[in-house]
Amino acid sequence: MPEEGLQWLAKPELLTDDEIVRMVRIAVTDLGVRDVRFTGGEPLLRPGLVGIVRACAALEPRPTLSLTTNGIGLSRTAAALRAAGLDRINVSLDTLSPEVFRTLTRRNRHHDVIAGLAAARAAGLAPVKVNTVLMRGVNDDEAPELLRWALDEGYELRFIEQMPLDAQHGWDRDGMVTAEEILASLRTRFALTPEGGAERGSAPAERWLVDGGPARVGVIASVTRPFCRACDRTRLTADGQVRDCLFARDETDLRTALRAGADDAEIADRWKTAMWGKKAGSGLDDPAFLQPDRPMSAIGG
Ligand code: SF4
Repeated sequence: MPEEGLQWLAKPELLTDDEIVRMVRIAVTDLGVRDVRFTGGEPLLRPGLVGIVRACAALEPRPTLSLTTNGIGLSRTAAALRAAGLDRINVSLDTLSPEVFRTLTRRNRHHDVIAGLAAARAAGLAPVKVNTVLMRGVNDDEAPELLRWALDEGYELRFIEQMPLDAQHGWDRDGMVTAEEILASLRTRFALTPEGGAERGSAPAERWLVDGGPARVGVIASVTRPFCRACDRTRLTADGQVRDCLFARDETDLRTALRAGADDAEIADRWKTAMWGKKAGSGLDDPAFLQPDRPMSAIGG
């Protein structure tokens, strides 16, 4: 997030809790979606989140429900989310240092994230995954230490290459810490062996057994080894727009149709049509690549 913050969406633009549940129901019953992930912005900021999870857990067929969060406030909500039916959780944490955390996020909340992770583990959310982005000169020296900590705590750590989705449009490919560099850094302290062959299907993380296993670490080489060919994701924003790719520059408005009284079949058709227009990949390697207007904090991961 930029220092001056981002403009909040006006409340009427946001889908209501009931509208979100209806959209998830359409995705699950009409479009074959089996895994639902709540992202954001920051999903824990939504007062009705537990109710949304509970309603989605009651759908038939029941989808797998997961959540990506910055972890702040999770210590208060993890048990309720688990009881409502949440299956898995990913918490973003880039550093073990409260000072570096404060520099990165402009908030002194490192302890909240650590407490949130512990609460998620205690609530039985398994595995608890930690998503880490390394930035050169900021936290790129922390990889082995972060892995040691995650192994000791029983969390599954995944390093994600930084993507051009920052609100400041300051991403620079040459400055990005690559998957190769991350693996080289980890190998200074750990023996890593690829888990289960090279095939990762539509799962973004390549996983490595640490010191022979069973502990693992994941590396998501979204930029240097993209997995777009196997991508089977569709994104619905908080304001009811479908994005066919994280890097899409166009969105398909489903909220207007929803509020104009469209039935489920029509919404499903519009959603399908939007996804059939999906490009073959992110276009990151195209010299004409343009970063989408909405930053990651407005799209969700
Ligand atoms: S196609 Fe888009 S959303 Fe899918 S993996 Fe590639 S960049 Fe991500």
